[in-house]
Amino acid sequence: MTKLITTQRAYQFRYYPTAEQVTALNQYFGAARWVWNACLAWRSHAYKVQNEKVTGVDFSRELTFLKTLESLAWLKATPATVYAQVLRDQDKAFANFFAKRAKYPRFKKRTHAPAIRFALDHRVIKNNYCAGQLLKLPGLGVLNIRWSRLPTGIPKMITVRRDSCGHYFVAFSCEETIAQLPANTNSTGIDVGLKDVIVTKQGYKSGNPRYLRRYQRRLKSAQRRLSRKQKGSHRWQQQRVKVARIHAKIHNCRQDFLHKHTTQLVRQYGAISIEDLNIKGLVKNRHLAKSMHDAALGELRRQFEYKTAWYGRDLFIADRFAPTSKTCSKCKAVMSIMPLRIRYWICPVCGAFHDRDVNAATEVEDYATGGRPECYAHRGQQAPSAQQLTLPGMLVPIEVRIKPARQTDCHG
Ligand SMILES: [Zn+2]
Repeated sequence: MTKLITTQRAYQFRYYPTAEQVTALNQYFGAARWVWNACLAWRSHAYKVQNEKVTGVDFSRELTFLKTLESLAWLKATPATVYAQVLRDQDKAFANFFAKRAKYPRFKKRTHAPAIRFALDHRVIKNNYCAGQLLKLPGLGVLNIRWSRLPTGIPKMITVRRDSCGHYFVAFSCEETIAQLPANTNSTGIDVGLKDVIVTKQGYKSGNPRYLRRYQRRLKSAQRRLSRKQKGSHRWQQQRVKVARIHAKIHNCRQDFLHKHTTQLVRQYGAISIEDLNIKGLVKNRHLAKSMHDAALGELRRQFEYKTAWYGRDLFIADRFAPTSKTCSKCKAVMSIMPLRIRYWICPVCGAFHDRDVNAATEVEDYATGGRPECYAHRGQQAPSAQQLTLPGMLVPIEVRIKPARQTDCHG
């Protein structure tokens, strides 16, 4: 029988506003920002001068009064639910600050990518929401959404946002039931690199998508053009949007690439091991390459975390200081050095032939699961063995000082 789990699932869809909706949204975004800033100023004053804690509820009473003032009559044009959510968000921001989880809340700038939230009235939800067909929001009417997938749950809250390239999105999350995948005893370790973004211990290599390189070149030249323009000028603004669009494109491509791989791997393997986000060995790399690596690794982990939870898989994380690329996956001898240029090597202790990345992926799994066969035993899995690889390539004999082998019971 398939196991079912209930979880909050987040959705985001591109949305194409009409001219009237753009005008209305600009007004709502501005009003929401004004209320955030006004409330923040009011609170800060109360807190710093009178040492009093006031809340969003207190300010919403003030707001009712402010709306009656002639000079602030424009506040009435924005739906009350938008203000209620702004004040609720600020309450949360302050709660995080007092609990020392976050810094003191900041004023929102005009240039900040804006977002507002609407609470959906569940008594009349049928008139306002139907997945794949209809979303109607107070003050805006029906939205033209590109439904790229079909949510099965019903959202309580809708976020409308505009990103820095001027694209509009609606985002929400709803409670959904997800059927777990049938249990499986396969396991893999994953090494994240620059030449191949993903390498598994079974020898699968994802490559590094070419289009990313192409966009990176474009990004560089667009940024150069931006730096030559007068900051704040009209042309500078236009160029800034161009740069933002390339950034968004790179981000989307990478997300797509990673999503396809994580979904596939989660389907295929019952247990997945990845390395912790680390800085070892990559600090000396160029900035762009390094940030690419970190972004990929961080995002990969995020995706694996929720996908393994959804589908009933196990995720193991190798310690960030584990010498995964320096350890021979066959005899567990640890090499003292392993320069990045070495792609293939022969273990001077046991003579095993290694592809650098595949060996590292094998060791990621070994370190993540504690290198103990018991970790695998309950899944009926044999301890991983070093693979005999027959990949072409130059063999580089490396000079190494051997540290004593780690004490492990398996792979011996
Ligand atoms: Zn060896």
